[in-house]
Amino acid sequence: MTTQQEKVIPSKYIPDVGSHVETIEGNDYLITNDAMYTFYQRSKGELSPFFLALRDDKRLLGCKCTNCGLVRVPPFLTHCPDCNFAPTELIEVDQVGIMNSTPPITYFATSLFQDMAPYGRGRVIFNGADTAMSVNLYTTTGILVPGIFKKGTEVKLIFRDDRKGEMTDVFCVPTVELSKEQIERKGVQESEINWEAPIEPKLPQADDQEVALYNEALEGIKSIIEEMNTNERARKDIAGWKRHILVKTTGGQFAIVIDDGDIRLEQREPASPDFVMVCEDPRTLLDGLAYRGAITDSVINRKLWISKNMEFNTIFKLDRMARSVARSKKS
Ligand SMILES: [Zn+2]
Repeated sequence: MTTQQEKVIPSKYIPDVGSHVETIEGNDYLITNDAMYTFYQRSKGELSPFFLALRDDKRLLGCKCTNCGLVRVPPFLTHCPDCNFAPTELIEVDQVGIMNSTPPITYFATSLFQDMAPYGRGRVIFNGADTAMSVNLYTTTGILVPGIFKKGTEVKLIFRDDRKGEMTDVFCVPTVELSKEQIERKGVQESEINWEAPIEPKLPQADDQEVALYNEALEGIKSIIEEMNTNERARKDIAGWKRHILVKTTGGQFAIVIDDGDIRLEQREPASPDFVMVCEDPRTLLDGLAYRGAITDSVINRKLWISKNMEFNTIFKLDRMARSVARSKKS
């Protein structure tokens, strides 16, 4: 249960009362904020038992044809089209299943799903079901990259702590990331899973050449970050955002501190970083910050690893800052 009542339209999308002037081809035009309301309620109809079971009982329901015995999950039919519309009955199925195909991963979601990205979206056949259910996929091992979920991967259904009676109340993680007890028990919630123990990629032992390369790249990164810190556009990109990032490379490590519009590089390890970034070659990060290729691409291509999936948002902001500095130079 959330303590604060959530609104259907988040307050950040509701503009203030007011007006401004826009000048187009030398003429001033007065623009006033106004509103038009539409509000509607949506019934889950005959699917209500399915969503209520997810929300209230943490159970997964399917429908079984009383004639052919086919079990469909989710239970989207009350009568079986294969059996001259024989009625189906609701049954509970297992919460462990197998990926039916290799899922795509969404890194850049629309505003509606931005808070959930990156996520995989795949089809899972749960034990006891004959059809696949479309469900979101996450990993506890750090950033979600291709290869974690494949066709045939065994997964477990996990329930959100705060459930509303929607498909997004549940998601799946690979069973190899869970304990035996968690795999066997139904109704496991997200807060019961350890999200704070990602598997950090090992860095090779550094030789003199790599240390020299690190020192050189560090100077470059330092000067770009200083430039970002004095750039108004770039500062706006991290307004209200606060993160301590520990950056580990083969030749050495440092910290990037984002503090509500301020960004700085620190050559000491933060006491408790919000997340860890690992890139073998520091030039990968340097190139991204210098707007020579996106850092998000390096994450997707596994050249740069981050310890928390949700911090892809921060990486996205760093890319935006690089773009802001590049644009300021142009104009
Ligand atoms: Zn049937």
